[in-house]
Amino acid sequence: MPDYSKVPVLILLGPPGAGKGTQAKILEDRFGLVQLSTGDLLRAAVAGGTKAGKRAKAVMDAGELVSDEIVVNILKERLRDPDCAAGIILDGFPRTIAQAEALSELLGSLGTRVHAAISLEVEDDAMVTRISGRYTCDGCGEGYHETFKRPTVEGTCQKCGCQRFRRRADDNADTVRRRLVAYHAETAPLITFYKGEKCLWTIDAMGEIDAITDALHQILRPIVTEVRGARQANKNLRTTQMEEAQ
Ligand code: AMP
Repeated sequence: MPDYSKVPVLILLGPPGAGKGTQAKILEDRFGLVQLSTGDLLRAAVAGGTKAGKRAKAVMDAGELVSDEIVVNILKERLRDPDCAAGIILDGFPRTIAQAEALSELLGSLGTRVHAAISLEVEDDAMVTRISGRYTCDGCGEGYHETFKRPTVEGTCQKCGCQRFRRRADDNADTVRRRLVAYHAETAPLITFYKGEKCLWTIDAMGEIDAITDALHQILRPIVTEVRGARQANKNLRTTQMEEAQ
């Protein structure tokens, strides 16, 4: 398990289609963070035919929430990987109060906490259009959209040149509506939860991708710097103490 005591821990909240995945990938590059998407981890478990994947598949196809137990375990396992020491940005987790409580407990046991939870505020109706039109490159995972972001050369990924694309099985209008119902019933209460933890920010996420990234950047930059600065300061202190001891 990496040393989490001074690692930035950030959460993106918001309904399906709010842009959590898109923004998490951009922030990953900008701040050198690691995006942890429980949706991606579950899809990998389904594709790999693991026990958890087999249990999760039907629930995911129906647009419902996978059990807290499966999701928390899958995240716990991922947090063991050394790359997480760079800082993590959670996308799609937590999705229930029970998951948020499990996360607080887990982070507490690792000597850390959630430093920021940012809620991406959007309108439900727009989410159905956004999600039903989206697809990704089969080669590199770059995201595209039939209306909002087509590849510059039609049929060819502008990032890696691959000509195969895929759509998620649960990205159809009916399932999206069920996912939105699950969001309002189970996940939206997390906004109040993190307000209570005094680490909640909200931003309007109906605009252009770049404008939303700018808003996120302004909120996160000082937080990431401060958490990392504290890590650096601690390292410096340890070095000084060691030098003094010698
Ligand atoms: P996403 O890629 O985040 O849209 O997630 C796709 C699907 O995976 C969701 O509709 C859920 O069925 C499942 N899922 C992902 N993350 C969670 C979570 N934290 N809790 C429960 N189910 C989840």
